[in-house]
Amino acid sequence: MHVRASTYDILARKRDGGRHTPDEIRALVEGYVAGEVADYQMSAWLMAVCINGLDAEETLALTAAMVESGETLDLSSLPGVTVDKHSTGGVGDKTTLVLAPLLASAGLTVAKMSGRGLGITGGTLDKLESIPGFNVDLTKEQFLDQAQRIGCVIAGQTADLVPADKKMYALRDVTATVESIPLIAASVMSKKIACGASTILLDVKVGSGAFMKDIQSARELARTMIGIGERAGRRTIAAITGMDQPLGMAVGNAVEVAEAVESLSGGGPPDVRDLCLELGSMLVAAAGLADSPSQARKLLERLLSSGAALEKFRQVVSAQGGDPRVADDPAILPQARSSAAVLAPAAGYVQSLDAGTIGRVAAMLGAGRQKKEDTVDRAAGVVLAKKVGDRVQPGEQLAKLLCSRDIEIQPALRLAESAFRIGPAAPSAPPLVLETIAS
Ligand code: URA
Repeated sequence: MHVRASTYDILARKRDGGRHTPDEIRALVEGYVAGEVADYQMSAWLMAVCINGLDAEETLALTAAMVESGETLDLSSLPGVTVDKHSTGGVGDKTTLVLAPLLASAGLTVAKMSGRGLGITGGTLDKLESIPGFNVDLTKEQFLDQAQRIGCVIAGQTADLVPADKKMYALRDVTATVESIPLIAASVMSKKIACGASTILLDVKVGSGAFMKDIQSARELARTMIGIGERAGRRTIAAITGMDQPLGMAVGNAVEVAEAVESLSGGGPPDVRDLCLELGSMLVAAAGLADSPSQARKLLERLLSSGAALEKFRQVVSAQGGDPRVADDPAILPQARSSAAVLAPAAGYVQSLDAGTIGRVAAMLGAGRQKKEDTVDRAAGVVLAKKVGDRVQPGEQLAKLLCSRDIEIQPALRLAESAFRIGPAAPSAPPLVLETIAS
């Protein structure tokens, strides 16, 4: 009875634009995880936060209460500097697949828990699971042991880590309460803090294929997350990177692994390579392995061209039960049963290529989920042939759609065609990294 009455008061305070004490926030989060605060009450509070916000202290208190809802990892016994990176989600974003082994080959320890795709954004776990045999469900002991032995592990979040986020995120997903800077910041940073890395890089995506649609919101999210990370004693840096067009040429699961292998072999699309080198250099320099990002970049370029980064990827795949031949022959990945070409309707230059639309096409083809329970077609996706700034002739291929399920392809083709805007003048290439922010 007492809990319900005070929950009511907490909801009323945020409804009226008031400010919570840390104790109120802790009571709400603890009560929710314990089942004493009902879904409808938490939904009401989340909506009130979406409308009235949380200030910096309230956001810190929310993050702390979420971290305390479960167990945390202690990485202090692992060798070297422990690093983590987090992307707020984008279309074709395979940077973790490249960066994690690349950074480990530079001597950093990357102990990373990743997520699955939802809506238009892909998830690292779905991509990795397209490698035959790859296991993302590791126990805490297996996770720490692999990080110790080979310096790199990428797995799903264990059930005991930040249970409050799992419950709250599922609720936010169906109550239109995902889009709130303090809620996103607390959700992301509670997981980063619980995972234990001492140095954290946040890749905040901005554009049509990202949660943040404008630079001001991306900046505010980045600053909020850096503030939380620093208060928790973690070195936290952020890059705001463009997501108006997809990253690289491949959008899906197996196709993105294949593209990551190309990049780890020293090739791959220039934007994937460049972004991984930029983000990687920031982390290597922040971790103290190089005096400057430019020196760090040279080190990472050498690790890509020498095969060291690819070898680390091979070790990770092997250690997690996957077929290591994927590092030499991506053709062993699942292949789509059918394909269809998107053709240019006119001559000119690609002026824009809407990442959000391409993400929706990939999801329609089966590469993503509409609901959490949906299964993913590992071979499905979109392989782009042209990107912003490329010249096209009428009838030339703009993209190839891949799928293995019996779906009507025409709506997907029409939607994919609508993602491309073709015009007479050559546009300048959009910048990859818009801003970097450190505390
Ligand atoms: N990713 C998360 O982990 N949490 C959010 O709230 C949004 C994106």
